Amino acid sequence: MRAEDLTLHEIVDFAEGRVSLHGRRLVLQDTYAFALLRKDLINMVGLEQARSLLSRFGHFWGEADAAAMKRIFEWDNLAEWLKAGPRMHALQGLVRPMVKALDFDQSRGFFHMEVVWHDSAEADQHLSELGPADHPVCWVLQGYASGYCSYCLGIPIYFREQRCRGMGDRVCMAVGKDETSWGDEIETCRSRFQTEDIRNKVQTLTVELRQKTQEIKQQRRRLALLEARAGSAFVEVHSDIFARVIELATRVAAYDSSVLITGESGTGKEVIARYIHKHSLHANGPFVAVNCGALPDTLLESELFGHTAGAFTGAVRERVGLFAEAHQGTILLDEIGDISPAMQVKLLRVLQTKEIMRVGDSKTRKVNVRVIAATNRTLAEEVEKGTFREDLLYRLRVIEIEVPPLRDRREDILPLARHFVQQFARRLKKPNLTLDGTCVDYLQAHTWPGNVRELENAIERGAILAHNDRILPEHLPLSIVHRRLQDAPANSLTRTLAEVEHDHIEVILRLTNGNRTRAAGILGISQATLWRKLKRGGGVGG
Ligand code: ZN
Repeated sequence: MRAEDLTLHEIVDFAEGRVSLHGRRLVLQDTYAFALLRKDLINMVGLEQARSLLSRFGHFWGEADAAAMKRIFEWDNLAEWLKAGPRMHALQGLVRPMVKALDFDQSRGFFHMEVVWHDSAEADQHLSELGPADHPVCWVLQGYASGYCSYCLGIPIYFREQRCRGMGDRVCMAVGKDETSWGDEIETCRSRFQTEDIRNKVQTLTVELRQKTQEIKQQRRRLALLEARAGSAFVEVHSDIFARVIELATRVAAYDSSVLITGESGTGKEVIARYIHKHSLHANGPFVAVNCGALPDTLLESELFGHTAGAFTGAVRERVGLFAEAHQGTILLDEIGDISPAMQVKLLRVLQTKEIMRVGDSKTRKVNVRVIAATNRTLAEEVEKGTFREDLLYRLRVIEIEVPPLRDRREDILPLARHFVQQFARRLKKPNLTLDGTCVDYLQAHTWPGNVRELENAIERGAILAHNDRILPEHLPLSIVHRRLQDAPANSLTRTLAEVEHDHIEVILRLTNGNRTRAAGILGISQATLWRKLKRGGGVGG
């Protein structure tokens, strides 16, 4: 059998509803529908993927035809079987092919074929739907040729179109070669038949997208943190632990939930509360702070909820109360752990109903207030002891922010100290006020039981006492400088008065860097007396 002897009606059975090529079912395809499919594919998966998919489609088709040709006919030789491919192309209406060159050596795995395609249906499809291209477009054809020849030879053969009517050439021309013959171009040839695993790609992209989203979130958080630090309240934050507090405060600010701020006295719970208010939807409303622990029950009730005129002895005029004052804003209930059980019940009712009733009044009034509570107590322990209502705790503690003690955020001590120096420089009108470097160790070593407030007070004292606008260790409270200097003697209970005096003089001299004039001033003695005492004590100091 020779390829040119092939005729369509002899090999294809055109029974109605079941066109077949020797038992293999065929369908007649509409080229317009195919053109639309091609256009859709390009739009959906991109040019590269569409080309790969259609090339593979052609490849499967070519392989199937080669197999059928082998099964049906007894070919004179391999060349005839190979040429039957282009012939089948023609018979199926795809193109009018002319084999220009065919050279192969099966034993060496060598293959070379050149074919000219006239009147390619595929080029027509492309031109009609997508217009002229800047690349060859007969992807199914080159796939078919590749599949057909690969099947015949038993090795991979790749056809590539060199000229194409779809890109303005008069005819299409393709070259087919074995892998070795393609040389450097082999990867490009192969890639034309590889499709990406779309599902895999979607998964990869999803993971990437998730990572990116995460990064963006982190960046937003960092940005919020920077903004927070840039705000005057937190310029001095260097520690991670406090940065996390601000981050949490920033995040909860936007919601109306109740916030419970816990932490030791002086840690700056009110500063955090004000910060939340400033960054909340209530920012334009008032911020009202009340120290619940400082007031007796009856007073606290009228303070919070107001009273009518004559509600009790001394209530001459009516009072609206802090809750009403804080309407559309935020109320900070400080020292919430100190309120009585009776007040706890009243407060719980207000939180539940968002209504207040003035003392001596019988009607309730709606209030829209964000409630922030603060305490230096551990309320969970108070609940266990039965001194604090559990239901109230849950109402107040939707979000809990724990403000760390200053000793746990040592990185912040110096920046805070410098911040306070600036603050008091302005307040005390001492523009040149500075903190002497010799203070640093004392400030760093102190445990700050009174936290930020203690530091602020210490700097205020130093600012007032500062010598020539320079705060020296001797200007700081003795509780700060003494502990560090006196932590040595374990025999302190057995020392004589003279020894204690001597040690104290030594402390003060070290504080003043050996400046006897300043030391004498601090000790409240004359320089001569100091000199005498030093001489007697064996000449301490410089
Ligand atoms: Zn073409």
